[in-house]
Amino acid sequence: MTNSRRIFFKQSFTCASAFTALALTTLARAQTSPTAVLETSEQAVALGYKADATTVDAKKYPNRGADQFCAGCTLYQGKAGEASGGCAVFGNNLVAGKGWCGAWTKKG
Ligand code: SF4
Repeated sequence: MTNSRRIFFKQSFTCASAFTALALTTLARAQTSPTAVLETSEQAVALGYKADATTVDAKKYPNRGADQFCAGCTLYQGKAGEASGGCAVFGNNLVAGKGWCGAWTKKG
């Protein structure tokens, strides 16, 4: 192998390693930094998610009980007293403890 080919392969490997490290760092950051679910996101609209459960469209979701909030849902991962917490339905992104969506399931 010529010296210039060796340098080329060495530089290519270094670039690939740097790119992989950057991609993994970005992925790790995305996984560890949940963001608040937007009511306007496609999934939130589909499930009727509202950060303030009292604003849920009662005509569209007549089965929502007045005592149903994310904090009382089995899919809610926030701790008692916290304003928001992760939700498995939304990829563990943050929903409001006082929110609600059509996937609400009573915490057992
Ligand atoms: Fe809230 Fe439960 Fe719907 Fe998640 S699944 S948004 S915790 S009601």
